Amino acid sequence: MKTILITGAAGFLGSHLCDRFIKEGYYVIGMDNLITGDLKNIQHLFKLENFEFYHHDVTKYVSIPGNLDYILHFASPASPIDYLKIPIQTLKVGSLGTHNLLGLARAKKARILIASTSEVYGDPLVHPQTEDYYGNVNTIGPRGVYDEAKRFQESITMAYHTFHGVDTRIVRIFNTYGPRMRLNDGRVIPAFIGQALRGEDLTVFGDGSQTRSFCFVTDQVEGIFRLLHSDYIYPVNIGNPDEITIRDFAEEIIKLTGTTQKVIYKPLPVNDPLQRQPDTTLAKKLLGWEAKVGREEGMKITYEYFKSLSSEELLKEEHKDFSGYIR
Ligand code: NAD
Ligand code: UDP
Repeated sequence: MKTILITGAAGFLGSHLCDRFIKEGYYVIGMDNLITGDLKNIQHLFKLENFEFYHHDVTKYVSIPGNLDYILHFASPASPIDYLKIPIQTLKVGSLGTHNLLGLARAKKARILIASTSEVYGDPLVHPQTEDYYGNVNTIGPRGVYDEAKRFQESITMAYHTFHGVDTRIVRIFNTYGPRMRLNDGRVIPAFIGQALRGEDLTVFGDGSQTRSFCFVTDQVEGIFRLLHSDYIYPVNIGNPDEITIRDFAEEIIKLTGTTQKVIYKPLPVNDPLQRQPDTTLAKKLLGWEAKVGREEGMKITYEYFKSLSSEELLKEEHKDFSGYIR
């Protein structure tokens, strides 16, 4: 049985990855400090013999007894609101945390895949974004703490590959959504659905002409699974190229939820990328991968998940106009 360590295991993507690798017959070690994650995302795994969990901050020395075949490093705040609230932890998990996990991979001779992001392209001047585009990031802007941590993460990963021969993989994840996202993490999908469920107006930032391309979680997990098992060491975009403006997306949410509320406009956060769409030619060619779940189907599943949360959970969430945070 192969053993895999998954950091960020109690988070949105990490918990789905735990499920997938359990299903594939791996021994899964989850690790998380629960700063933005929740044990309820993985509580169904605790009874299994081939799952164990370490409550640990990966910016501190990481020690795992025994053999390790693979490491997936997914620990990091991922929502702009989260990383605006905890900027230093965000920088540390991308830098010190990645350093620790690369050291562990080297010691164990394990293959390591790190979770990078479309944010390495910043507010992109090339559209759609191809892997050879270097990006347009404001190092000292509010999003710099995340973007630069992820860019450093890619650099140190390549350095460990080149200088220490560590077997590395880098996935550049584009906006991914689905069940187990946190209702109050501030990302646009939970934000809009939460607003619809609470009977509030939907807050579109800016004039809503900025675009995003949303990938359903099962597609993302499939792409990551295939990349891990490929022999390609350079970054690969995984995302759904179906691009939409945030204004049109708000209208889709109104239709999906049947809310009678309207769209209201708030200031555009500083350095909010105006366009984002993955070029997935490389993933198709290398991995035979492309996104299969359309937005209509994926959003229905996601809406059902948020609806299934208790009304207490829905109402206890502190709901703010987050745009003021991002200056
Ligand atoms: P998430 O916040 O749901 O999960 C992140 C998890 O990491 C949480 O459980 C959190 O508690 C944990 N964590 C954070 N710092 C830690 C530390 N120092 N030690 C141990 N655990 C720590 O976010 P997500 O959407 O699941 O994102 C997971 C990864 O994927 C992140 O690296 C993120 O940058 C990347 N990513 C996600 C998206 C997306 O659209 N979901 C897009 C691009 C990149
Ligand atoms: N957004 C919005 N209203 C909200 C939350 C987000 O209009 O209540 C916009 C945000 O400004 C951005 C897009 O939706 O242009 C996606 O934001 P998200 O926080 O999900 O992630 P990002 O892609 O910016 O990392």
